[in-house]
Amino acid sequence: MLHYLTIPVTAFQQNCSLLWCDQTHEAALIDPGGDIDTLLAQLQAQQLTLTALWLTHAHIDHAGGTAALAQQANVPIIGPHRGDQFWIDGLPQQSLMFGFPPADTFIPTRWLEDGDTVQVGRETLHVRHTPGHTPGHVVFHAPQIQRCFVGDVLFAGSIGRTDFPQGNHQQLIDSITQRLWPMGNDTIFIPGHGPESSFGQERLTNPFVGNT
Ligand SMILES: [Zn+2]
Ligand SMILES: [Zn+2]
Repeated sequence: MLHYLTIPVTAFQQNCSLLWCDQTHEAALIDPGGDIDTLLAQLQAQQLTLTALWLTHAHIDHAGGTAALAQQANVPIIGPHRGDQFWIDGLPQQSLMFGFPPADTFIPTRWLEDGDTVQVGRETLHVRHTPGHTPGHVVFHAPQIQRCFVGDVLFAGSIGRTDFPQGNHQQLIDSITQRLWPMGNDTIFIPGHGPESSFGQERLTNPFVGNT
């Protein structure tokens, strides 16, 4: 069985998610943006072994802690999609601009493509490429627990910003309606910021993508 715990990190209160397989006690962290000591303490508290870092996209609040944690824990960096290379290269400047602790660049161990799968213990999650907020944004779908970890694509009552370099509003709307909605109205999503919601709830009430 797949379990998860969401841990807000950094001044941006970014939802880092700790996922684990209860058969093997192996864990992955989605978007370790910072506060590495807090994340390591949670792993220890849950008696888990960290096996990988997964990234939805390379904005500082999502990826800022990646290089340091990968080195410290000796684990691979998986994702995002290659389209976010320029955001990874820009992490040191992003950390200065937003007053974050220094963040190093890195080279992902594995880039992700639409349709890929990733593994934590005996559990498999499905990867969809969802550009718009950033060109290399991906989401992680866990149909076995009807959950999707969507980063900054969709929020409860809102959608991701598209006013960044290579952001694209129509592409973001298409990502949401063509790649998230087919996962089903009952699927609960864990956004990069703020509370969880379901795709069905957003289709009814979200002012940006309601009635789609
Ligand atoms: Zn972002
Ligand atoms: Zn964010």
